[in-house]
Amino acid sequence: MKIAIASGKGGTGKTTLAVNLAVIAGRSATLVDCDVEEPNAHIFLKGDVAATETVSIRVPVIDENRCSGCRACVEFCSFNALISFGGPPLFFPDLCHGCGGCRLVCRSRAISEVTRPLGEVRRIDADLCILVEGCLEIGVSSPVPVIKAAKAAATGDFVIYDAPPGTSCPLVATLRGADYVLLVTEPTPFGLSDLRLTVEVLRQMNVEFGVVINRAVRSESLIHDYCHHEAIEVLGEIPEDRRIAEAYAAGRLIVDALPGYRPLFRSILEACLERVTA
Ligand code: SF4
Ligand code: SF4
Repeated sequence: MKIAIASGKGGTGKTTLAVNLAVIAGRSATLVDCDVEEPNAHIFLKGDVAATETVSIRVPVIDENRCSGCRACVEFCSFNALISFGGPPLFFPDLCHGCGGCRLVCRSRAISEVTRPLGEVRRIDADLCILVEGCLEIGVSSPVPVIKAAKAAATGDFVIYDAPPGTSCPLVATLRGADYVLLVTEPTPFGLSDLRLTVEVLRQMNVEFGVVINRAVRSESLIHDYCHHEAIEVLGEIPEDRRIAEAYAAGRLIVDALPGYRPLFRSILEACLERVTA
């Protein structure tokens, strides 16, 4: 079973929910930190790195002395990673998907390949669950291959994906294959705006989802009103509580620092599991 924790923007409490749910689920759970540009679940789930895998692709190198300027590689590359103004093509590594097609179509044998590292996937045996962390190499702009590698490295029957913020390709790559998505939001106009965008993506992907409101205050019904109107279930509310912010700032799990919140996280987890198995 795979559940994902997502939000339209950063700073809404996505990782807070993900790490605390993973700990409530226990040693059988694997948390995958798919926020590979800025993974931070390891701050809360401390443990030893048990394995490390480099994520890389093979990218072309063009020998200008052999290149005839025929443009066959340029026309083949549907990702526009090669452009030519008549001479040997220019190569844009960030657009390259490493398919190897350009080398195959080059009759002049002017293209060879080198390995381009994109990032790393680490498996950490944390005290309370397994953590798989994707980490993007500095200067690499496409996180999707590292996200896919991190997801592939997750073993076990119960996996939680901590999704990257935003609503673009990295989010879609993370949510693909998830049985259920928890959308974390906060009761502010910004929170609502980002929630709307993420709901649109999820509906297009046809994935089941529910909402968790973070920093909830009783007087603010903004998110409840929207969810009611859109027939979206609210599975839980984490209240605005200064002690939670202090625990977070100290790198502590809420369920450890404030055990009174354990039942809340347990009820969110159970509600999630019920929706998946229903
Ligand atoms: S296919 Fe080969 S020869 Fe033709 S432009 Fe590309 S690198 Fe040069
Ligand atoms: S390897 Fe594929 S994606 Fe990369 S430049 Fe060649 S054809 Fe384009």
